Amino acid sequence: MTRFVFITGGVVSSLGKGLSAAALGALLQARGYSVRLRKLDPYLNVDPGTMSPYQHGEVYVTDDGAETDLDLGHYERFTGVPSRRSDNVTAGRIYTDVIARERQGDYLGATIQVIPHVTDAIKAFITAETDGVDFLLCEIGGTVGDIEGLPFFEAIRQLGYELGRKRTLYAHLTLLPYISAARELKTKPTQHSVKELQALGIQPDILLCRCDREIGEEEVRKIALFCNLRKEAVIPALDARSIYEVPLRYHKQGFDTQVCRHFGLDTSEPDLSRWEHIVERVLKPEGEVTIAIAGKYTDLQDAYKSLNEALTHGGIANNTRVNLRWIASEIFENEDPVPHLEDVHGILIPGGFGERGAEGKIKAARFARERRVPYFGICFGMQMAVIEAARSLAGVSRANSSEFGACDEPVVGLLTEWMHGNRTERRNIDDDLGGTMRLGAYPCDIAPGSRVQEIYDGALHINERHRHRYEVNIGYKDRLEAVGLRFSGMSPDGALPEIVEIPEHPWFIGVQFHPELKSKPFEPHPLFESFIGAALTQSRLV
Ligand code: GLN
Repeated sequence: MTRFVFITGGVVSSLGKGLSAAALGALLQARGYSVRLRKLDPYLNVDPGTMSPYQHGEVYVTDDGAETDLDLGHYERFTGVPSRRSDNVTAGRIYTDVIARERQGDYLGATIQVIPHVTDAIKAFITAETDGVDFLLCEIGGTVGDIEGLPFFEAIRQLGYELGRKRTLYAHLTLLPYISAARELKTKPTQHSVKELQALGIQPDILLCRCDREIGEEEVRKIALFCNLRKEAVIPALDARSIYEVPLRYHKQGFDTQVCRHFGLDTSEPDLSRWEHIVERVLKPEGEVTIAIAGKYTDLQDAYKSLNEALTHGGIANNTRVNLRWIASEIFENEDPVPHLEDVHGILIPGGFGERGAEGKIKAARFARERRVPYFGICFGMQMAVIEAARSLAGVSRANSSEFGACDEPVVGLLTEWMHGNRTERRNIDDDLGGTMRLGAYPCDIAPGSRVQEIYDGALHINERHRHRYEVNIGYKDRLEAVGLRFSGMSPDGALPEIVEIPEHPWFIGVQFHPELKSKPFEPHPLFESFIGAALTQSRLV
């Protein structure tokens, strides 16, 4: 029997509902339960794939090729459960499906309305594929009171009514602001936020109160009284030193215990040693390295969320603090990269789109290659490294990517046809931008004896997640291999370069996929573990 926990938010956005849901998932797993996590996003985009990273942060890609909200990345990192297309839905997707069904006549002449048709579609999404899962944790994006959120709140209200209180729980995340002039924590916004929920027919069972300082007895008593809750169900959620401390903090404050109590389950102590170990490593590392990340969206950390975390995981594996130096690669187009890069222990070029900053990335790749600094190119970062090698080593001076316009040496070119399993996928340049890239998990064959084979612990076949439209052009392979680049990972049909490395370099690897999406704190991705290890070696040299 699946139990449903709904996580909503109020007062302001960005309080960390996703992390709260992920942390609760980890805590329930530690108690021996199986969990799935889902996110409902009330905006009208069909998926976040076409949204600017400035607006929405990173697009998280699942194995089955869905472009989803970055909170799914938290879910997967905290629970290890691979997220799927069926774990994230937007209002845009729900409405698109309802309207398509209406056009097909599926509703037999009925007037299509938000209630029941849209709410039914939302409920069907929440409850689908939950067989054998002990807990389904479902986060509602946005804050209570948003107009576009109403059908979602109505749907979860109905589920509470239909499934009963013993199978559903509402947890609401709010903010307690501290007013320095009055030297007081204010509970009023929380009270209002709960009233707003109650007006929609939802009484929260647990309140998670974000606050930048200890919450006194008196405030807890007040919140409990005015919001209709037991005092134990008012859980302080203070700022943590690391996101990986959140499960331990929440446990200490009784979050998972209160959830178990609500459902009448055993509340004995879970084994949290996995998380204690991770926090110990994150907070008290022995070594320290600095990695330069030359990217585009460098002033918005959320744009590279998984990358950030995967680097932290590489640090955990090496017991090392990883300092990140974010550099907008554009500046290298006018400035010498040397002063920015000469003291770093590793250079990483992440995924990216568009021409802006590309030449700067090529310069950074060149610096790393020539100065023998560990280089990790991810997707766009691999493409730029290959263009650099083609220009500087293979004499293809006009090497470029056709992403930036027509070019006569398309060392990186548009992918119009490829195999997915035994199916051929086709695209052309005029296709819609949404969902038309090479997306999701694809297999890759690794060359025996390559550095990546060693990194992947001897594996010859791996599976990694993709999100890109362009590919390194196999037509240049021989010329590039002749000058020292090794194509050490290929698609099984041999058509698509997946990994390149420079065997003569201390650590120079480019991958066409996004390894950061599969890294977890308790299972750091081998490429990140190895890259940070190489940076650590480099730090002893400079
Ligand atoms: N813009 C490149 C492409 O579409 C790289 C994409 C990426 O880095 N995710 O192929």
